Order: sequence, then C-alpha cells, then structure tokens
Amino acid sequence: MKIAKSEMAAPVGPAPVLLVADDAGLPSASRLLDACPELIAVPHAGGVLGAGLSTALIEQYRAGHACVALADTETVIRALAPVLAHQRSPAGPAVIAVAPAGTAVAPLLGDGAALGARLAAALGIGLAGAAADPEPAGGDAPRGRLTVVGLGPGTRALRAPAVQQALDQAEDIVGYLTYLNMAGPFRPEQHLHGSDNRRELDRARLALRLAAEGRRVVVVSSGDPGVFGMATAVLEALDEAAGPAWAGVEIEVLPGISAAQAAAARVGAPLGHDFCVLSLSDNLKPWRQIAERLRLAARADLVIALYNPRSRARPTQLAEALVVLRAERPPSTPVVIARDVGRPDEQVRVTTLADVDPEAVDMRTLVIIGSSLTRCVHGGGLARVYTPRWYPPDACPTSAPSDGAASS
Ligand code: SAH
Repeated sequence: MKIAKSEMAAPVGPAPVLLVADDAGLPSASRLLDACPELIAVPHAGGVLGAGLSTALIEQYRAGHACVALADTETVIRALAPVLAHQRSPAGPAVIAVAPAGTAVAPLLGDGAALGARLAAALGIGLAGAAADPEPAGGDAPRGRLTVVGLGPGTRALRAPAVQQALDQAEDIVGYLTYLNMAGPFRPEQHLHGSDNRRELDRARLALRLAAEGRRVVVVSSGDPGVFGMATAVLEALDEAAGPAWAGVEIEVLPGISAAQAAAARVGAPLGHDFCVLSLSDNLKPWRQIAERLRLAARADLVIALYNPRSRARPTQLAEALVVLRAERPPSTPVVIARDVGRPDEQVRVTTLADVDPEAVDMRTLVIIGSSLTRCVHGGGLARVYTPRWYPPDACPTSAPSDGAASS
C-alpha cells in the first residue's frame, strides 16, 4: 500500500500519524489526509493482525505521535496491548480507531476528542461515544443488561466463576485498556471498547448507552468493582441522567477480590481485626480531607489499607501520609508493601513505619499500615503478619473525641 505524505505546516509537538491496516481502508485514508493536512501517513509491513501494524503503531505511540488507525477497535487494542500492559502511567498520546469503511471514529486513548471530531466531520459521520443523548426507554425499548465485574487482582485463578461467565456471554466489553487485556482472550465477534484510565464516567455512559440499545454489556474493573471502581461510576452516570433514559437497563454488580484482600493474604492476616480502606488519590477529593481521615483512622487504631498511594502527578502523597501516620503510630508498626499482587511481577515486602521508603511505592502498589496490635511471626521461613482477633479491654485508643492523645 502506498500513501503519499501530505504537505503540512510545522505542528506543535509530534504530528499525528495515520496507519492503515489493509487496502480496505485506502479510500477513507485519502479522505482523512485531504481533510487533515497535518496527518502523516506511515507505511508498515502490512497484515491486519500481523506484526507490521502492531510494530508501527507501538513505535509511533512511543514517539509521542497521536495515532489514527484505519482498523477496527479490537485490532488496535490488540496491536497496542504489549506496550499498554507495561505502561505505568495512563498519560500518553491519543489513539483513535477509524473503521476501514469510514463508518465510525472511536477515540480510544488520550485526548483524541478534537482530532476525532475533525476526522468524523471529514467522513460525514458522528464521533462514537461522544454524540447522541441516551434513548428514552419506552415500552418497546430493548432491555439490555449491564454487568459490572471485578477481575480480582490479576491472575485468573482469583477470578469468580460468575465473572468469567459474564465475560464469556458479553457482546460488548467496556474498560480501561490494561484491564481489557487482563480480562481476555475474547472471541472475534465480541466488541471491545477500551479507553484511558481517567475516563471512568465516559466509560460508564458508553456502557449504559450500549445496554440501552438492548446489548449485553460487561464493564470491567480490577479487584472489586465497588472499591474505588467502575460500579460506582456506573451508578453515578445513572444518577446524573436523572430520568427514565436508562431506567430500563438491568444492572448487576459481580464482586472481585480487592487488592487489600489479595495483598493481606500474601503475608498472612493483617486485616484480621477492624480495618479501613482509604484512597490517597486527591483527584476527586481535597488532600485536607485525606489527611484528616488518615489521622482519625490512625487514632482509632484501625489497620489501614492505602489504595492509590502515590502517582506521578503527585509523587509526595505517600510521604505526606507517612508524616501524619508517624505522629500517631509507633515506628515499629508493621507495614506491608504489595506491588502487582497476583500478576507476573508481584513483589510483597514487610517493613516498619519507620523504614517505609515512598520511592519504592507507585500506583500499582497497595500499602497496609498495621494497628497497635499487628504482629510479625515467622512461619515456613517467611515473615507473616497478623492482627489478632482480640482487643485488650484497657487498650481503647481514644477516650474522647476532643482528646488529642495518640494511641500507643
Ligand atoms: N477496584 C480495585 C481498586 C482500584 S484503585 C480493587 O478493588 O482492588 C487502584 C489501586 O488499587 C492501585 O493504585 C493500587 O493501590 C491498588 N491495586 C489494584 N490492583 C492491585 C494489585 N494487583 N496489586 C497491588 N495493588 C493493587
């Protein structure tokens, strides 16, 4: 296949590139290149599912180019899967799939809305996932089903059979690309709708729209979908629609093993007594509130499981949390640092509150901070951590709400 490079004015940042899976996409390619002069056509070794498209796509994506692929969504997801599976941060250039016949434009990753809209306009169609208000559910409206599933921490052995069954029966699967990759393999006739990790609400709305059309839709979350996951996003989207629009959709939530449970099991039973889970992400709540919750949880002598402990955008989250916790808990408090639990690169370490190194923690890590009773024992040559089921009657951590005394 041969496509001439367009002449173009110097773009700001790397120019967007166009990759064409096979000859079926050539007429659409010409229309896109005519309408978007900054688009550069990149030749590749060929083959829809072969290494050619995948290698070229990964190369351009890694070089920071927004990528427009004239290929079906699933092909693009499969082509990019090797790089996305190891990507620590979801931030990256836009990736847009355009159906070879020019009948659909689907922004899959990054900020592809503006470019996607121009491509769609060039093809005389709407942008998938961005247009159309939900259809009201009339008496004759098809009754679709939306199942939100938890994949567990990673390995399929820790996935509930009911979740696997829902995935097997799905017509459409919606989720963050990394999790779609984890949830597969899928059959060719199943439609995959992958997106960027930061677009939970967009993903939830898309899933509701598809289900309202009568389709059998599964939304995937890692761990448990109700713990900082997609089940909540779906219900928020439903709530925000505030009307009968999606009321006909049957919604079901299937649980998964959450990261805190999976991490705890690796070291023994640190969550054996009262515990709480907190997210350190301040994307959706102010840091002030996070710090206050940490302080109160530490004072209440709860074991604390920390999700989203540290991100590239806010690398000081965990260090700031440790300042709060160290003021309330002794330095010898056991701490579990569990990264990629249930995945091939799993690393689990037991340390103390004094020795936690925030640099060793990232967004794929779960941190468990022990209570005053959490203990380490050795069993089978391994350090085991547990929090006993009993509580000494004289160890009540706070005597009054205004009491500023730290627990011991
Ligand atoms: N719904 C998920 C949590 C999503 S929030 C669940 O129930 O597990 C994302 C955070 O979960 C990550 O920042 C990390 O703190 C934690 N996490 C998810 N999967 C993990 C895993 N396999 N290993 C360690 N931490 C994990």
